[in-house]
Amino acid sequence: MSDQGTETAHATEMDREDPTDRAVRRDQAVRAAVEQGLVDPASPIIGLLDVTGIRSAAASLRAAFEAVTPPGTPVLHAFAVKASPLVPVLRLLRDAGIGAEVASPGELALARAAGVPPAHTVLDSPAKTPAELREALALGIAVNADNPQELARIDAMTRSAPTTSPIGLRVNPQIGGGSIGALSTATATSKFGVALLDVGAREWVVQAYLDRPWLTRLHAHSGSQGMPLEMMVRGVAATYELAEEINGRAGRQQIDTIDIGGGLPVNFGSDEETPTHAQYARRLKSRVPGLLDGRYGLVTEFGRSLLAKHGTILARVEYAKTAGTRPIAVTHAGVQVAARTVYAPASWPLRIAAFDAKGRPKSGPNVGQDIAGPACFAGDLLAENRPLPLLEQGDYAAVLDTGAYYFAHHYSYNSLARPGIYGFATKTDTGVDTVAGTGPGAEAGTAAGAAESVTFATVREPQTLEEIVAESGGARRDALRDL
Ligand SMILES: *Cc1c(COP(=O)(O)O)cnc(C)c1O
Repeated sequence: MSDQGTETAHATEMDREDPTDRAVRRDQAVRAAVEQGLVDPASPIIGLLDVTGIRSAAASLRAAFEAVTPPGTPVLHAFAVKASPLVPVLRLLRDAGIGAEVASPGELALARAAGVPPAHTVLDSPAKTPAELREALALGIAVNADNPQELARIDAMTRSAPTTSPIGLRVNPQIGGGSIGALSTATATSKFGVALLDVGAREWVVQAYLDRPWLTRLHAHSGSQGMPLEMMVRGVAATYELAEEINGRAGRQQIDTIDIGGGLPVNFGSDEETPTHAQYARRLKSRVPGLLDGRYGLVTEFGRSLLAKHGTILARVEYAKTAGTRPIAVTHAGVQVAARTVYAPASWPLRIAAFDAKGRPKSGPNVGQDIAGPACFAGDLLAENRPLPLLEQGDYAAVLDTGAYYFAHHYSYNSLARPGIYGFATKTDTGVDTVAGTGPGAEAGTAAGAAESVTFATVREPQTLEEIVAESGGARRDALRDL
């Protein structure tokens, strides 16, 4: 497998930032968050976003596909808003040349609030209402129809009101699932898109295009976490072959854009980013060269792979105890910020890093311990028997790689408040203070030095108790008494 060895070595140099840099920035941010009082006994949990890391991920994604397509090939990277539904994040990505993939009226509203232009927005939900479709078509947002009934609705709408929206159809190449059933979109019975291998389905799809000259895009999303890269490539290849067949039958390049979806898996086991967007793009280039030879425009819809590694949950250890000889750190991070990990720990293991009460990485012998959350059920654990330096009362547990589908996906169990989310940048980011402030040596620097080298911006305020009451029917206290 010397080929893969080369690919990996190549990847390390060019496709991604040094994972150590990311870890150093994260440690600095944790230290600074404690020193600056962002997290403290009264605000015992926060989410942190590494702005430098997000910018660099966006740049590498763009570079990855530029490297495998001829200059001038239209490529829209539409970030899957569901992975991080936060307006400042969408705005940051917009500035980095990334659009938005939305799948609900709420996500579309967020993308619009962030200023993502309609031409950089793609609507993909499997349950679009007539009102949603009408709005998208009026705005000129790209729409991927999920099924024949939705296509019939679009037929009627475009007949009565012409649209500038590029319109496509989502297909399910039925290539099979990955290791996580709930996230596998390309199984034989997945609810998404037109199931291509079903009897008569392929012919129906081809005819649907021949009947509708304005149907110019083809969409498939064969994700997600737990899918081997090779399987994703097979899904894209099947989609490309269908586009070629349709264009052949039409006798023209009717399908001008292929939307390959997102779904690149993320390595939750270390700071290493693997696979990279560039590895995926190169694999597509060698396996589906026709897709990238400039005849087709491209849309991608990556979510997790852009954001996961750039977020950290930082939670205070409220109490440290033991039960049946097992040490337990009772923290403020549990099911409300990590629902997937708590309910399906085998599919969604997360790394945890131990910090002391001053926000410095803890050292000492590893001790198997449970990292528990604040919710009132026994299974509210982020990790069981995890070997870590022993966490003590007042220390901090950092839950790593939680920038996508974690702290931005609050689950209001026990009416636990949504934590505040803060973006951070370290001084090195400006290129000004590369030597003095924040090199690896800065770890050993003074506390003040560490704190000053990190700047925070509020992305989302912590939820207040007044908001919890208001969102829980507080203004309708007597609503049920009068029935
Ligand atoms: C969820 C989703 C994505 C993003 O998936 P990731 O695994 O976060 O990259 C992209 N496209 C569609 C249609 C989706 O449903």
